Amino acid sequence: IKNQIKFTILSLNENVSFARAAAAAFAAQIDLTLTEIDEIKVAVSEAVSNAVIHGYGEDNQQENYIELIMILYLDKLEFTIIDRGKGIANIEEARQPSFSSDPERMGLGFVFMESFMDELEVKSEIKQGTTVRMAK
Ligand code: ATP
Ligand code: MG
Repeated sequence: IKNQIKFTILSLNENVSFARAAAAAFAAQIDLTLTEIDEIKVAVSEAVSNAVIHGYGEDNQQENYIELIMILYLDKLEFTIIDRGKGIANIEEARQPSFSSDPERMGLGFVFMESFMDELEVKSEIKQGTTVRMAK
């Protein structure tokens, strides 16, 4: 490990942009194109906004925390987004393009994460929460 930052944010829409900016700042340590940095920003903010919207929703906002772990290995950046919210019943289905549990949404968050990052791993348990690990 060459560097690591961990932080915790309250589950609020306003904090998605903080997470996005933090991911970009962390990624700036290595030589990446602006496009690659933009892709990381989108992937991380999609995962954080999923935690806010789907993981926790509107209730108990004072106790709903999202953890972000950013690690720089020799030549790889890894971002892990953890919520302790409601969890995903069927991960395979959730990752399908255009699948959303909310008819108002596009169902593209996981598609962006998958296409913009080199690795994507989703672990989840009902009522325990969700961990999304991505690397580039
Ligand atoms: P979009 O991201 O395009 O606004 P979306 O959020 O519904 O739409 P995805 O980000 O691909 O689409 O997520 C697919 C589905 O997976 C969501 O509709 C939701 O049911 C579930 N999901 C994703 N992340 C979480 C999470 N952290 N906790 C609980 N459910 C989740
Ligand atoms: Mg989403």
